[in-house]
Amino acid sequence: MSGSWGCPREIKGLCSKVKDLPCDPGMKGCVLYGRFAFSVDEKNSPAVKRKLKDKKTEKGQ
Ligand code: SF4
Repeated sequence: MSGSWGCPREIKGLCSKVKDLPCDPGMKGCVLYGRFAFSVDEKNSPAVKRKLKDKKTEKGQ
């Protein structure tokens, strides 16, 4: 079993879900968008940004 994940929407480096743009995991429209937090903040949905902000507030940062 492999530890890597392969997106079924990616075909030859292009995303069949988002207008055949080059695959960029987490970009708007990607199946991962809004489901995970990314280190590049522009990839985070408003809901994820709120969660991250709430976590920071809880920690007193
Ligand atoms: S951008 Fe996201 S949905 Fe599209 S191919 Fe890449 S990982 Fe899959």
